[in-house]
Amino acid sequence: MWIFKSARIRLTAWYVLIVAFISLSFSFIIYRYVSFHLETGFRSVEARVRGNSGARVGLIYLADELTSAKKNFLFRLLFVDGIIILGAGLGAYFLARKTLDPIEEIVEGQKRFIADASHELKTPLTTLKSEIEVALRDPKMTLSESKNYLKSNLEETNKLGSLVEHMLSLNRLENIGSNIVKKNIRLDLIAREIGEVYKKRAQKKKLRFEIKTNIVNLKADETSLRQLVGILLDNAVKYTQKGKVEVKVYKKSGKAHIEVNDTGIGMARSVLTRIFDRFYRADSSRSKNNTEGYGLGLSIAKSIVEAHSGQIKVTSSKKGSRFTVIL
Ligand code: ADP
Repeated sequence: MWIFKSARIRLTAWYVLIVAFISLSFSFIIYRYVSFHLETGFRSVEARVRGNSGARVGLIYLADELTSAKKNFLFRLLFVDGIIILGAGLGAYFLARKTLDPIEEIVEGQKRFIADASHELKTPLTTLKSEIEVALRDPKMTLSESKNYLKSNLEETNKLGSLVEHMLSLNRLENIGSNIVKKNIRLDLIAREIGEVYKKRAQKKKLRFEIKTNIVNLKADETSLRQLVGILLDNAVKYTQKGKVEVKVYKKSGKAHIEVNDTGIGMARSVLTRIFDRFYRADSSRSKNNTEGYGLGLSIAKSIVEAHSGQIKVTSSKKGSRFTVIL
């Protein structure tokens, strides 16, 4: 971004200016100090040989030597200053990059987020608008037809609502970061509670659903962890057409583990690297009309895990996927 390029150059210029000022000031002081002492020395020699006409010739040579020594000294000082200023320039540019690059990345990320979010918001809004316009233009519309339009409008409004909710979630997580308020919670009970909600959804799709938990006490933010388990289970049920979804909670090596396994469509290796990006949806999930989503779930999950200084891992094959959260 041009604004960062110019900021980098301006910052470098300021650094260089400050270093140049300090370096030149020091050189000036050193030069004045050394010249003063040389001249004082010269004057004391001059006073000592006053009246001695033979020595006066030597004094002229000494005066020449003194002038050229002072010139030489000044030249060397300026040369050292030059090297210091050049080094400072390079160092300053490097430091300015190091300082500004992460900020540029954040700003770029936010720009991308706004662009993606606007795009996602536009689609349901366009559908809503065109349906309302068609309905208003049709004078002979029956009550049942208008109800159908209203139903469809409601669906789009719900989509918009859930998208905005997801976006607010991400924003909240980004604002609080790792300053999340942690309390003692029972992770196994939370997983069971959320699991029961998704069990019903799974059963509607004729999927088997298993919840296997050991007692796990944890210091964490309960609301976020509920959301995290919900996101993983929502995806597992959404992307599994037959077979089983399973959620496990256990402790291993002193750390809490949440594991969600499914026998769903799985993900290709190229997809796996991108699923935690905002608004990313694999083509397979886009093309299936019955799998709703905006590609924000896993990025929220990742933010929650990061806010708890944990890890989220995924393995997947054509036979299904496994998400593991370690806290
Ligand atoms: P959404 O589910 O809303 O599309 P997510 O961020 O939760 O967004 O997931 C991103 C993408 O990762 C999904 O679109 C899907 O392609 C893939 N994905 C996530 N979970 C699974 C899963 N359990 N099985 C297969 N694909 C998955």
